[in-house]
Amino acid sequence: MPWLFYLVLVSVYLGVSVGMAFVPSSGFHYSEVYSNGKTEKKILSLTFDDGPDAETTPQILDILAKFEIKAAFFIIGRKISGNEEILKKLAAESHIIGNHSWSHSYLWDLYSSLRMADDIERNILETERITGKRMKFFRPPYGVINPMVAKAIHKTGVKVVAWSFRSFDTTATNPSSLLNKAITKTKPGDIMLFHDSSVLTAGILEKIIVSLQERGFSFIPLDEILKLQAYENR
Ligand SMILES: [Zn+2]
Repeated sequence: MPWLFYLVLVSVYLGVSVGMAFVPSSGFHYSEVYSNGKTEKKILSLTFDDGPDAETTPQILDILAKFEIKAAFFIIGRKISGNEEILKKLAAESHIIGNHSWSHSYLWDLYSSLRMADDIERNILETERITGKRMKFFRPPYGVINPMVAKAIHKTGVKVVAWSFRSFDTTATNPSSLLNKAITKTKPGDIMLFHDSSVLTAGILEKIIVSLQERGFSFIPLDEILKLQAYENR
């Protein structure tokens, strides 16, 4: 679990408690990580990473529209080209658009903090150019916060949003075990992580929604469950 590993590493490094990532640069900066709604109510928030995808994102949007659910999409900036209409649709249908970096490079965790900040800002600018919305929510590629990422977060002023339920849908092969996991492991206030680039998720999302609604859960937007603004007012 690299996410937790790095949080522990960075926290231990500075002798502070787990849950915040601190980095010593000019002054003493920290990045708070928002990973669930603090509630006992049976509410959940759906989030999707790694899109927009020309095939599967529209399928997922159709399902969400059918159930009138507003989700959050943490998009990869370099995937916008050719999928501008999908991005506009996300905004027009009041889904939240979040930042999942421009490149999502395999080497992202090794970038300098300046290069990371440029990568984050490039996605903010391109998304704003197309939708008029200036993203505040950021989910680091691979969910890792090392000291360089923490510095880039501070420099760009983004708010870090993680998750409390991870589907592992990019590596799952069995739809029924994914469905079963989503039904049995979900807790009140969970932020659920899926990938809108996943064919498996597109195929099973409707069943997941119906099953959780039957168990008394309802789905609310990410900004509501976190009580945070998703966009910067300009
Ligand atoms: Zn990702």
